[in-house]
Amino acid sequence: MTGAIRTTCPYCGVGCGVLATPDGKGGLSVRGDPDHPANFGRLCSKGTALGETLGLDGRILTPLVGGASATWDHALDLVAQRFSDTIRDHGPDSVGFYLSGQMLTEDYYAANKLIKGYIGTANVDTNSRLCMASSVAGHKRAFGSDTVPGTYEDLEQADLVVLVGSNLAWCHPVLYQRLVAAKQARGTKVVVVDPRRTATCDIADLHLRLAPGSDAALFNAVLVALADRGALDRDYIAGHVSGFDDALSAARSSSSAMTGLDRAELATFLDWFTTTERVVTVYSQGINQSESGTDKVNAILNCHLATGRIGHPGMGPFSVTGQPNAMGGREVGGLANMLACHLDIENAAHRAAVQGFWASPTIPAKPGLKAVEMFDAVAQGRIRALWIIHTNPAVSMPDADAVARAIKGCDFVVVSDVTGTDTTRLADVVLPATAWAEKSGTVTNSDRTISRQRAVLPAPGQARDDWRMIADVAARMGWGGAFGWDSAGAVFREYAQLSGIAGDLGRDFDISGLAQADYDTLPPTRWPVNARQQGGRFFGAGGFFTPDARARLLPITPRLPAAKTGARYPFRLNTGRIRDQWHTMTRTALAPRLNQHIAEPFLEIHPDDARELGLEAATLARVSSPQGQAVLRVAITDKVQRGQVFAPMHWTGDTAPTGRVDALVAPVTDPVSGQPESKASVVAIAPLNPA
Ligand code: SF4
Repeated sequence: MTGAIRTTCPYCGVGCGVLATPDGKGGLSVRGDPDHPANFGRLCSKGTALGETLGLDGRILTPLVGGASATWDHALDLVAQRFSDTIRDHGPDSVGFYLSGQMLTEDYYAANKLIKGYIGTANVDTNSRLCMASSVAGHKRAFGSDTVPGTYEDLEQADLVVLVGSNLAWCHPVLYQRLVAAKQARGTKVVVVDPRRTATCDIADLHLRLAPGSDAALFNAVLVALADRGALDRDYIAGHVSGFDDALSAARSSSSAMTGLDRAELATFLDWFTTTERVVTVYSQGINQSESGTDKVNAILNCHLATGRIGHPGMGPFSVTGQPNAMGGREVGGLANMLACHLDIENAAHRAAVQGFWASPTIPAKPGLKAVEMFDAVAQGRIRALWIIHTNPAVSMPDADAVARAIKGCDFVVVSDVTGTDTTRLADVVLPATAWAEKSGTVTNSDRTISRQRAVLPAPGQARDDWRMIADVAARMGWGGAFGWDSAGAVFREYAQLSGIAGDLGRDFDISGLAQADYDTLPPTRWPVNARQQGGRFFGAGGFFTPDARARLLPITPRLPAAKTGARYPFRLNTGRIRDQWHTMTRTALAPRLNQHIAEPFLEIHPDDARELGLEAATLARVSSPQGQAVLRVAITDKVQRGQVFAPMHWTGDTAPTGRVDALVAPVTDPVSGQPESKASVVAIAPLNPA
């Protein structure tokens, strides 16, 4: 391992450990870290290609003001002045930060402290809102906290793993590899619940192709079957749960017919779920990215809570996050409706604790604007100064064309990023940020393991760490003392201390045991880490974070997507990821071998639908929705069902065909979580060049 530096993959929420070795010529080689508990040496195609994504093509190397190179002092002075002026003239709610699950925890902490504790607004949200906000909301409703109860080992110790709305094979490949190995070793049954046949179905013993959006009806049917077949854990319900009767009554009132599933397949699933104690239900964007996402999450949690199958080896609901640090962003409160360390913005004692710790002049008492609301406010001129960090909303937000217009029309927009994007091109000021291999901090993966990311290469040009540029702006706004950190480690230590206060207030997130740890050598560590608890699982013996320490079962009435297909828009569009690209391709597209997997944006359509529309394979189709248009290469396949189509969301407007798929997606959100419905837009399809 001579010369290798332990760091963490920056792509998905599996959070694999990487050994990176500089080659002395500005590049590096990578291999999986055999000692990291997420991957034990494995890497997927994206992780393996990390060393090929480090070139300076497209890198932003100096601050840009009005598109021209500027000094850091000029750019930072301008940012501080324009934000200060806007706040003075229009109040703190006239500004906002839009962050990203790509940011390190320390960067997130600094941004959240500045906007909530010093500027005094909760208008800070993140692209994680598009990824897992429904899981957060579901956890909080059921557990009283945003706690992932289990660990990755649970997938290996389960006898039945149910993957709901999760293409684990492509979106969390190393976790999938671990599941494949477990299946080979112990014969784990795998059920995939997904309208589409994905790569994950290769290991499925049963694939339930349910109707889009009907997941809650499926899990209501599971709850009823558990009750009718004597599979409930009456002691756990009596000791640790409330709301069971109402939840069961609501479940009995809904119909499994909504799922459209074959009766025999459904019966098999209910048999397996009711008779297997060690069940893990993994869920991801197919659940979260829904206008009823929070209800779907709670329908799943209901089944595990009613059986006590939670917090024990091989049992539990398990939300897998999309981004490398979506979890860290949740922990530092980088969302409009949260405070740091899982404290609640609407709880006066929590606000007082955070404000007291920060010694800050203010703290908002109400939640701010969530992602879709925030860009609406930008469009309406209610937000007049916006700082976007490490994300590309002009491509990735629902109704992306409208979002791009809103950003373009905003009085003042700052974007911090590594490379030029559709969004940086709309900014007044662009700040050059350090990239994965150049920066230092921590990330938290889907099973609560905090891992160090370490700088392996020097920063090129004038690129600067995010926490530092946030602190630089804070200092220019008059708050230098509170942001006077000298390193990412100093930010982390402050954050860990604050978490101890959260622990004293009875919250789950407490890593105060790391406040004095050696940051440089910090090994991967699963939280909590404090005098009361070290890592492990939650809730096996109850102990929920509600006022009465009981979990809440929720009565769930399933709702299908409100937008109906019809004569004008006859198809239901599902969006998602492909194996070898990441987000809007700003990094993965730099690696030629990753581009070889799938070279162009495409539209999966059923053979019968293609025939009726006169679409030939590999020709181009125009896809239209009430929001926008895209042109995609036709892929005829029965992986999708009739009336449904699928398109990946990675491509931008610069590539031909024009694959800006989020321009098609309606800005419809879940009323509880604010997460957009990205899986059920209605579209029309026609040949681009009819014969
Ligand atoms: Fe990186 Fe995720 Fe692949 Fe692991 S599974 S190497 S974290 S992209």
